[in-house]
Amino acid sequence: GEKKLININSLIPEYFRLAYNNVQAKNKEFNVTFTTDFDNSLSKIEVNPLELGRVLVNIFNNAFYATQQKKAQLNGQYQPEISVSTYQQNGHVEIKVRDNGTGIPENLKNKIFQPFFTTKPTGQGTGLGLSLAYDIVTKQHGGKLKVETKEGEFVEFIVILPIA
Ligand code: ADP
Ligand code: MG
Repeated sequence: GEKKLININSLIPEYFRLAYNNVQAKNKEFNVTFTTDFDNSLSKIEVNPLELGRVLVNIFNNAFYATQQKKAQLNGQYQPEISVSTYQQNGHVEIKVRDNGTGIPENLKNKIFQPFFTTKPTGQGTGLGLSLAYDIVTKQHGGKLKVETKEGEFVEFIVILPIA
């Protein structure tokens, strides 16, 4: 793929908007609070912007689904939230995407990156989003993709990308 030297901070809101608009076109009720906390001194890194965009869109789509699920369970008294932060440390740039949705049960945490693993009803999930994201981050960019979660409370995906 075609790689470019870019500041990933600029990519994040662009792909959030893309994913968000796509969901809102199908569901007018849909809303989440989106907040960002970007490291303004982030180094530019060599990435394929379209591929990294696909990673972000897959992560955002899962976060949308998880927050809408929780909203349906709690009926009110709950505001869906997605926050993205960026950091730089030890030769890496990190993107952390956090949602306050359903979370992932501990026993499923190590299965979510497997191709075709899904907990969604037929037609709502292929189970391919995170396996694709994993391959893009690790194989195409030499990075790491990690997850932290507490069931019922939050999920955090951490995309770790090397600075060339
Ligand atoms: P799909 O979205 O088609 O199910 P993915 O590979 O994107 O496939 O995700 C696999 C599974 O990981 C989901 O079905 C869900 O169980 C879990 N998952 C991923 N992201 C989240 C999240 N933000 N909150 C809760 N569960 C998640
Ligand atoms: Mg998905």
